[in-house]
Amino acid sequence: MVNLPLTEIFSSIQGEGPYVGVRQLFLRLPKCNLTCPYCDTETKVPQQFRIETVAGSQHFNKLDNPIALDKLLELLLQTYDFPIHHSLSVTGGEPLLWSNELRVLLPLLKEKGLTIYLETNGTLPDQLLDVIPWVDIISMDIKLPFADQVYWDVHEAFLRSSFQKDVFVKIVVEKETTLNDLQNACDLIAGVDRSILTVLQPVTQIHGIMTPKPYQLLEWQSLFLEKLINVRVIPQTHVFIGQL
Ligand code: SF4
Repeated sequence: MVNLPLTEIFSSIQGEGPYVGVRQLFLRLPKCNLTCPYCDTETKVPQQFRIETVAGSQHFNKLDNPIALDKLLELLLQTYDFPIHHSLSVTGGEPLLWSNELRVLLPLLKEKGLTIYLETNGTLPDQLLDVIPWVDIISMDIKLPFADQVYWDVHEAFLRSSFQKDVFVKIVVEKETTLNDLQNACDLIAGVDRSILTVLQPVTQIHGIMTPKPYQLLEWQSLFLEKLINVRVIPQTHVFIGQL
């Protein structure tokens, strides 16, 4: 049987993007191939993962990593009421680093009636193709360049493959974000399809990285709306209400 290490499992409210407010089961997987300066997530593989058995209780049981996929499915079925959940969010870290395991797990979850929502940094297009048959909704980041890391080409390949599914793009923006980078991101999306829903997500202040000013957000949204049809500014809402 295939095993998979996890970071945490919980049932909560989606706090980002166009599905904000829907109830989801979250499966957070460890490891990431990027080091974004505003990252707020622990990405190391823990010896044990945690599972919140009563939603919102902040009470967690701990279980050893990795877990066999049949045991994981049993655990999810025993702990959660699947039908009340809009979807199951596979998140990270970067979940596509576990594409070999996910191509076994996702069909099992779909057999139980779950809609699969993939949250990804959008930089692993080959791994996306391994799992895309079982994914329904793709929340894809476009990472604006940081340090010497630039991802335009892989993002474009990723977005072209994602377009066969319900995909939206999320771009985290901060006070120091440049018009040039935003223009490149906008052109990339418009080059795939100008109807792709695009979310500008003002960074939640962290590590000295500042949230953009209101005028910046409005100016940037206007810039995107010159080429794209559906552009929204949506902050991380779960942080306002203390949700996981
Ligand atoms: S892609 Fe996500 S998890 Fe990975 S470093 Fe960036 S913010 Fe953190």
